[in-house]
Amino acid sequence: MPELPEVETSRRGIEPHLLNKTISKITIRQHKLRWPIPKNLPTLATGQKIREVCRRAKYIYLKLDNGNIIIHLGMSGSLRICTSKTPAEKHDHIDIIMSNKKILRLRDPRKFGCVLWQASDINEHKLIKPLGPEPLENLFDTDYLHKNAKNRKCSIKAFIMNSHIVVGVGNIYASEALFRAGINPKRQAGKISRVRIKKLVDAIKLTLKSAIKEGGTTLRDFTGISGQPGYFAQKLLVYGRDGEKCTVCNQTIKQFSQQARSTFYCPNCQH
Ligand SMILES: [Zn+2]
Repeated sequence: MPELPEVETSRRGIEPHLLNKTISKITIRQHKLRWPIPKNLPTLATGQKIREVCRRAKYIYLKLDNGNIIIHLGMSGSLRICTSKTPAEKHDHIDIIMSNKKILRLRDPRKFGCVLWQASDINEHKLIKPLGPEPLENLFDTDYLHKNAKNRKCSIKAFIMNSHIVVGVGNIYASEALFRAGINPKRQAGKISRVRIKKLVDAIKLTLKSAIKEGGTTLRDFTGISGQPGYFAQKLLVYGRDGEKCTVCNQTIKQFSQQARSTFYCPNCQH
């Protein structure tokens, strides 16, 4: 599943091709994604110029003068830039075609993604309004996380993966950040000291920043904007490494299931 670094990598990949370009046509081949693509989207967006290509959590949105096209990649979605010379394949559900003939194409085999329209402020959209702060922004700091962790009985992993608390910390990066911070993923969120919460905040920022820098992790179904697999996967410290040796202490990395998701950790380094 594309996580925040992949979405940010996609945003950066498509931005130069779309900025200040006018939408000349929108072709929808499949309306039925997680939520249906609005039937009037082509009418609303055609002829409009793309002023900004932004990201909020795992939503990419194209800011037009009269509203925003919101795109979510779901479980298996990917965006690419192509031209009409590239024939659409089975899972290519929507083409947003620019006046310079370049096409922004969404491929989504599992159809958990979405393409929506928001006429007013993006932050007022019902999917975006309840979201917590961006992990890489200053609002997300030790004070914020420590205050919100108070009296929380859930595990620290579930806590940092809760998008009402902070967005964009998905399963892979939660395991990675907890390893860097030396915190056992099962530990109760409300019982972690402020000093260790600070380590965790720093670890989350560091983990996501380095993933974005490396172009996003490629896991199974995500390909980079050029269609080439990313190369960050080999740098993962614990995720997917069960049975292998910890890079810090040489003990064996363990895996277990938490909220029906795989968690990877080092029992020796994480307490
Ligand atoms: Zn270790």
